[in-house]
Amino acid sequence: MIKNEFATYKLNRDVLEALTKLKYLTPTEVQRKAIPPALDNKNIVVKSKTGSGKTAAFAIPIVENVVWEENAPQALVLEPTRELAYQVKDEVFNIGRMKRIKVPVVFGGAPFDKQALSLKQKSHVVVGTPGRVLDHLQKGTLDISQVKYFIIDEADLMLDMGFLADVKEIMSYLPEKHTTMLFSATLPDEVDNLANEYMSDPVKIMIEDETVTQDTITQLGYEVENEEKFDLLLDVLYEQSPEYCMIFCSTREMVNVLFRQLKKARIRCGMLHGMVDQMERLTTIDDFRQGKFTILIATDVAARGIDFDTITHVINYDMPNAKETYVHRIGRTGRNGKTGTAITFINDREKRLQGLIEEYTNAKITMCVPKSREELQEKKQAFLQKQKIRQPLKAKKGAVFNKDIMKLSIGGGRKSKMRAVDIVGTICSINDVAAEDIGIIDVRDSLTYVEILNGKGKIVLDALQNKPIKAKIRKVRMTR
Ligand code: ADP
Ligand code: MG
Repeated sequence: MIKNEFATYKLNRDVLEALTKLKYLTPTEVQRKAIPPALDNKNIVVKSKTGSGKTAAFAIPIVENVVWEENAPQALVLEPTRELAYQVKDEVFNIGRMKRIKVPVVFGGAPFDKQALSLKQKSHVVVGTPGRVLDHLQKGTLDISQVKYFIIDEADLMLDMGFLADVKEIMSYLPEKHTTMLFSATLPDEVDNLANEYMSDPVKIMIEDETVTQDTITQLGYEVENEEKFDLLLDVLYEQSPEYCMIFCSTREMVNVLFRQLKKARIRCGMLHGMVDQMERLTTIDDFRQGKFTILIATDVAARGIDFDTITHVINYDMPNAKETYVHRIGRTGRNGKTGTAITFINDREKRLQGLIEEYTNAKITMCVPKSREELQEKKQAFLQKQKIRQPLKAKKGAVFNKDIMKLSIGGGRKSKMRAVDIVGTICSINDVAAEDIGIIDVRDSLTYVEILNGKGKIVLDALQNKPIKAKIRKVRMTR
């Protein structure tokens, strides 16, 4: 067994095992400081920069403390955007995978009724955006009267998006006794006030950002006027041939324009900004994570909080508007002991900001001169060639759990009064199979899905071909 330092928190075996599978073996600083008080049900306020592992800092204690048998939601997590709600849902779900924690997610722009239906089923942790959560509360489709943990995540972004009033209103639906945890990358006054006003005696955990950028990031710059930026970008792409690249622009319009220009140049890429349709944004994030394309163009706001872990290059197509933004952007590369390259396009009027950035980061941006097209000819061909070849896709983070999991569909559902216990009862009566080999059970109208864990799928599938469930032989098939 691999040694997992999370064992010091005396976590449930299921939780520890999930963390090991996810390769979370050493807690990050924010996790070291936040997990113990959170496990003790203390109110906490946490400031720690993007990418420092805040999600698991609350997900681990919640998953650990949630009681599986209870039916009403025991934790409510608020996220400022749908993408973050989705990402955090995945993280809670993965950490709770072996404990079979159910994590419905609710956000605007997706069918309300479908969400209401999923909320009706057993759910342990609900993740959602404030507007839609409030909607469900007002319509009575979400009951948070049993919630023990209330999490306000990415609170500064919540404030920027004008959600604080909704957050406060949601609080009025919470039971008197509950633990509140607030997480934020920065702590503006309004967020601090919210904490002081609504939380009693919170433990404050403040982790300072290092302003000095790590020496794992090579910082380069090019002097360029706006009309020449696109040509320069092509040259930079040819020369660097980045494995995984994020390009930042200052406006949605610029993201759009650049996206179209790159497409026209037959370079595969994706874009993220506030006006992109929300389902499309989720797909874009997923596709980029899997490597369907390796260049992502984004605005600062659209990319905030979203986690991509293997960025090798950050290109500031437009100069960031502030020195802090520069540090945030380039901090997406050179992580986890890897090296990265940050490249900034700087026009004449932006030189002053460059000076401020260099002072703030205590590092020089090395100015480069673009190579000539002749010099780049070979690299250009190689780059374009690489664009034509589809790389094998990367596995999704939760995929480690799936290889030992088989999903079965069983004939019979709510209409024939099928309940999860009927399924559990029968499956447990099979030789060599126990309750802990059963994953998530999803009872639909006339069909039930059940996950069989630990590589026992085949045994269960075979056995159920002639073993009755609720006194009847059911049609049992493998799905996917
Ligand atoms: P934040 O909310 O602070 O911006 P996230 O919770 O999104 O950060 O985490 C950033 C990345 O770090 C994610 O890819 C997450 O899977 C990874 N991560 C978190 N904790 C650990 C850990 N203990 N070990 C390894 N990776 C971790
Ligand atoms: Mg986060």
